[in-house]
Amino acid sequence: MTQASTHCPSTACKGVDPVQEDVTPETLAGVGVMGAWLAHAHRCTSCGCVYSSEGAADVLRGYFGNSIVGPGWRSIYGGREVARP
Ligand SMILES: [Zn+2]
Repeated sequence: MTQASTHCPSTACKGVDPVQEDVTPETLAGVGVMGAWLAHAHRCTSCGCVYSSEGAADVLRGYFGNSIVGPGWRSIYGGREVARP
């Protein structure tokens, strides 16, 4: 895992800047998640949200394994764009 950025696009982490990690396409494909965005997916180690970096914005896709929603994939956001600060 590499640190991709210190900014989480989820409002849950606003102002906190927890560590962000890369998520491999294989990891998400293994739980049934499909899409070209998998190639540049990241995950927040604090809230567990998964998003992709698209130009000047991050696109929230869902959650993967956090303490609130439990293990596995949850498609909560469904592609909500969040402009980077
Ligand atoms: Zn977060």
